[in-house]
Amino acid sequence: MTKPLQHSAQSIHVDVAIVGAGLVGGTLACALARHGIRAAVIDRIDPAAMVAPTFDGRASAVALSAQRFLNAIGLWAHVGARFEAIREIRVSDGDAPFFLHYDHADVGDEPLGCMVENRHLREAIAANMRGLGDALTIISPASVADMTQSADDITLHLDDGRNVVARLAVSAEGRNATLRTLAGISVTGWTYPQTAIVATIGHELSHNGIAHEHFLPAGPFAILPLPDDAGVHRSSLVWTEREKTAAGYLALPDEKFLAEVAERVGGFLGALSLIGPRFSHPLGLQFAAQYGKGRLLLAGDAAHGIHPIAGQGLNLGFRDVAALTEILIDAKHLGLDFAHPDAMARYQRWRRADNLLMAGVTDVINRVFSNDIAPLRIARGLGLAAVNRLPGLKKVLMRQAMGTIGDLPRMVRR
Ligand SMILES: Cc1cc2nc3c(=O)[nH]c(=O)nc-3n(C[C@H](O)[C@H](O)[C@H](O)COP(=O)(O)OP(=O)(O)OC[C@H]3O[C@@H](n4cnc5c(N)ncnc54)[C@H](O)[C@@H]3O)c2cc1C
Repeated sequence: MTKPLQHSAQSIHVDVAIVGAGLVGGTLACALARHGIRAAVIDRIDPAAMVAPTFDGRASAVALSAQRFLNAIGLWAHVGARFEAIREIRVSDGDAPFFLHYDHADVGDEPLGCMVENRHLREAIAANMRGLGDALTIISPASVADMTQSADDITLHLDDGRNVVARLAVSAEGRNATLRTLAGISVTGWTYPQTAIVATIGHELSHNGIAHEHFLPAGPFAILPLPDDAGVHRSSLVWTEREKTAAGYLALPDEKFLAEVAERVGGFLGALSLIGPRFSHPLGLQFAAQYGKGRLLLAGDAAHGIHPIAGQGLNLGFRDVAALTEILIDAKHLGLDFAHPDAMARYQRWRRADNLLMAGVTDVINRVFSNDIAPLRIARGLGLAAVNRLPGLKKVLMRQAMGTIGDLPRMVRR
């Protein structure tokens, strides 16, 4: 990796220290270093281990705006052809005859977004990091055990005895963020009685770039298009199941698990096969009361963890990164402290509203759709049919999913 550190070096001095080299922290490190802001990124897991096929079996729906941002910071080039464009989205509810159909052609030439396997995003981040030279220091495997702040800087105390001293620290540590706790920032939230089962399937017929979200009483069942691999058509499944029954499905032998999958997918993809292992994720919503304190800021799941029903959690994280990158570039040009109170306040103002809105919307959709209550079922069907017949509203919803409306950072705009 870039610039291996001497273990004898007790203190490392940088402009911005990022804790967490996941999809959000890793992207932020790339974006800042590319713009001449000296950064260090610290993770308890060796990034080389994060690209193993067994580490993270998810694939992410990357919104068009996020794809533009990753392109602007040079990261998308490392994804290469390993993505599948999402041209249409079909939303259906149980056996109801009503559905909602989004077609990219209704809002322009570009796809609504694309599907990328997380391991390929992680590989792209690692490749991008390797090209950043001295602008980026990677410290891994190491954990942050404590932090102290002064008027001029923030010091992260690592578990191996080293210190990282920075003007600003960003916690991109995911949902169980240590720095957030150390700073005394509280979190509001709840768990959903649901588990997401993730698996990759091969299928006989092409998906034609169409993403399907099929609402079942236990939760949404998503069939998301992946690029073909060695001539095999593939899709990623996110099967939201009741927490109590998910463990049983996960423990089934392959043949029986595939039969359960086939029953939910239906016949439109032809014969199915399982590719690779299954993964499971407990689901919950959480929201940090503040996105910063002193010289510490939160980004990604450390600030907001939402239900994957709309495939937006990472996209919000990418928007955090794009906004923060813009704010810090502006601070650098103006010769301001990276943790100047105006910069800190601007980030929180900018990102909290967008994230809170999406957290609320996904929570409501999950509650309204994940049940079999007859009056709600009828209302849902009518709602889907109504939206499907209102082209104006449908375009707004599509642009929302593409992340192309709202107060967008410069690098996210076309
Ligand atoms: C089933 C499922 C499907 C999803 N699908 C989509 C989708 O299609 N589109 C979308 O936009 N979003 C999706 N999401 C959401 C998305 O996956 C998350 O929002 C995203 O992965 C969060 O990334 P992160 O980098 O913020 O956190 P994490 O991925 O949790 O990374 C945190 C990193 O910090 C490190 N770390 C933590 N604490 C410390 C410490 N103290 N010291 C050192 N290192 C530390 C960890 O090792 C880890 O590498 C989905 C989520 C689920 C569960």
